[in-house]
Amino acid sequence: MTATTYLLERAFIGGVTRDRVAVTVEDGLFTKVTPDSSDAGVRVPGLSLPGFANCHSHAFHRALRGRTQRERGTFWTWRKQMYAAAERLDPDTYFALALATYREMVASGITAVGEFHYLHHQPDGTPYEEPNEMGLTLIRAAREAGLRIALLDTCYVSSGFGAPVEGVQVRYSDGDAERWAERVSGLASLAESVETAVVGAAIHSVRAVPREELSVVSAWARQTRPAKNGARTTGPAPLHVHLSEQVAENEACLAAYGLTPTELLADSGALGPMTSAVHATHLTDADVAALGTSATYACFCPTTERDLGDGIGPSRQLAAAGSRLTLGSDSHAVIDLFEEMRATELNERLATQQRGHWSAGELLAAATTDGHASLGFADAGRIAVGQRADLVTIDTTSPRTAGSGADENTAVFAASGPDVTQVIIDGQVRFERGDSGRIGRDLDAAIARIWEN
Ligand SMILES: [Zn+2]
Repeated sequence: MTATTYLLERAFIGGVTRDRVAVTVEDGLFTKVTPDSSDAGVRVPGLSLPGFANCHSHAFHRALRGRTQRERGTFWTWRKQMYAAAERLDPDTYFALALATYREMVASGITAVGEFHYLHHQPDGTPYEEPNEMGLTLIRAAREAGLRIALLDTCYVSSGFGAPVEGVQVRYSDGDAERWAERVSGLASLAESVETAVVGAAIHSVRAVPREELSVVSAWARQTRPAKNGARTTGPAPLHVHLSEQVAENEACLAAYGLTPTELLADSGALGPMTSAVHATHLTDADVAALGTSATYACFCPTTERDLGDGIGPSRQLAAAGSRLTLGSDSHAVIDLFEEMRATELNERLATQQRGHWSAGELLAAATTDGHASLGFADAGRIAVGQRADLVTIDTTSPRTAGSGADENTAVFAASGPDVTQVIIDGQVRFERGDSGRIGRDLDAAIARIWEN
């Protein structure tokens, strides 16, 4: 295998920014990382960062950007359009949309995506001939875009606390959690040979899976699995769940079960170190303690939470209790993890009327190392020997970043997606500045196909 050495002008390694970092990449991994180096190599100007993990995505929501803001954009404007998009997709149109959306992600430095996937069946609810057609479509789209994917296959069997699914939701439902588990086991074996894919599980929400079926999903995720190759995670699969995004969900859960959603999940064995609570916005102190002591990840999606008017979750309290922070672009109103990182700190400032909760280094850890670990890629997210060779390089002389110090504070508090000049994933160059025009045209065409047919 040939080795390539890059000489990075500056790079974020070991929690600090260093100059002249020589990195050698062999077989998709870093085999040598040397700061202050005088080695020869391919020069990479700018600031290089580890790859970002976008831990919460619904790829098809990309078709809604801008459109759900019409007539001031209420929650119902959004939900109506989201259901309309869900009704129209088929494997072909979904492949084109997901491919273009994943390429947009790569262009902004995202090297792995957690795809919270619930659009499983045909429009009338009948399974496709291959019951995992849609999940496999997403895995193929990610492969072609060049990023890793944790396909978080989502159990969704009720329109709310036991009520049957209705309308487009028939596309989401397997009937019950046992049948969901059977289908997703099939997907896991089909994806077995794809080195860049992890198959994980998701509980859509405490609304969409009845209490007695929650443990079926948790048990599926908890099964110990053999390693697919030397560098891969063994043991439990990732388990993600939308949690307490809105106050109404908490109230309905209390009315149905006399428990908060967090208490219900704890009671069903769903919390733990491979679980991610997505949003975790409206929590009691006891909820925060339960999430923290179980080492459940808290996956915040600030640009979506502000778009939907959800509120601001207690990110710092969760971290103090023991939950590691991760980040996601969720509805893709924006795809830019630089924005998600700084929004986490800036929202906390608005909520507390104080500055200084999260450092740039901590927010970068959320976007890189911790995010990757939460998706089952424990061997990614750091520029270090033995890690998957991901490099996200940003221009430190753009109108946005110039004069800001060219360090981790530039990355978190000054840069945006368009400042990314090059993205290497698993040792392969997957984006270079100049590719953006084509990505825009592909997105335009993929979205037009959905709304025009
Ligand atoms: Zn979501």
